[in-house]
Amino acid sequence: MQALHLSSDFEGGNGKLIALTPNGAEIEIAKDKDAPWSQWFYVKLTGGAGQERVLTIRNAHATTYSEGWPGYRAFVSEDGEAWLRATTRYEDGALVIRYTAQSETLWFAYFVPYTVARLEALLEDARGAGASLRVLGKSHEDRPIHCVSLGQGETPVWIVARQHPGETMASWWVEGFLRRLVSADPLAQKLLREMSFHIVPLANIDGAVRGHLRGSASGLDLNRQWAQPDPVLAPEIAAILRAMEEMGCAALVDVHGDETIPHIFTDGDPEASPERSAGLARFNAALLKENPAFQVAVGYDASYAGSGAPGMCARAIGRRFDAVGLTLEMPFKDAEEIPAAAPCWSHEGAMRLGHDSLAAIAAIFG
Ligand SMILES: [Zn+2]
Repeated sequence: MQALHLSSDFEGGNGKLIALTPNGAEIEIAKDKDAPWSQWFYVKLTGGAGQERVLTIRNAHATTYSEGWPGYRAFVSEDGEAWLRATTRYEDGALVIRYTAQSETLWFAYFVPYTVARLEALLEDARGAGASLRVLGKSHEDRPIHCVSLGQGETPVWIVARQHPGETMASWWVEGFLRRLVSADPLAQKLLREMSFHIVPLANIDGAVRGHLRGSASGLDLNRQWAQPDPVLAPEIAAILRAMEEMGCAALVDVHGDETIPHIFTDGDPEASPERSAGLARFNAALLKENPAFQVAVGYDASYAGSGAPGMCARAIGRRFDAVGLTLEMPFKDAEEIPAAAPCWSHEGAMRLGHDSLAAIAAIFG
């Protein structure tokens, strides 16, 4: 049998080896650089083919959203392509993941990872279908902030994803959304005549490469910087905001994942005008019809984000442009609206939600 080996030294990897055990490894999740947040993990274990392998995250109790571990099931993959949920228990402050596979290699992750290479291939596909690609600026560590634009209409609609890099479901959502938008789908064709879409698929590219949960390379929560982004510490947001000023913004969807709430939901702005609130209500009503996993009963309360709320993308952009701004949240856990017999909530569900959200965006404008 091949000796066990654990690594996280790859794009998006996070998990420090504490000890190898007879059938797996004990690890600790590392905090984001210069920041207090942690929860994202992504490691590769080799050796032990055919036997049950056990990954134990020793410091799960000390992560940012430790209340999100009970009821959570981790993702595993034998080839880095096909992912499924594994038996997972949160016990004595540790997260214990068990899986038996014939392959020598086993990947473990908080949610299904989404690589920069996959994004670049998606963007090239979109370009081939007529979209225009643009780099809005550079990240703190000099990586490109991509934007893909398409449509000839007068109404500018913005999509922002992965401000929080560990929320990889946002990338899968973008893939489902963009693939529909560049297809022959009649609704997509109609909306491309009425609207212009600007999609920023990976706002926090440094954090994604580094394996962060929430922070940027400068240690900031980018989704609290939108009221007045510092061009040095939050160049990502300054660049996106500049482009929004240039193109205008009638509606914005900021796509996220939530570590604790086992539901898909939206969050708006408690201070929004009646018109802006009505736009969000129409989005919600349309998405309820389109997607069986979406719901509106559970979400954040009005005090969410506290004093940081004015710096949230959906609120700051809604107020600045008098636009309909909303945050779309998807769970890391199984979504409770999905029947137990159906496939669990995963990247495939996030892609479908992206596909289905097109009709909801159309509904914003009545
Ligand atoms: Zn988020």
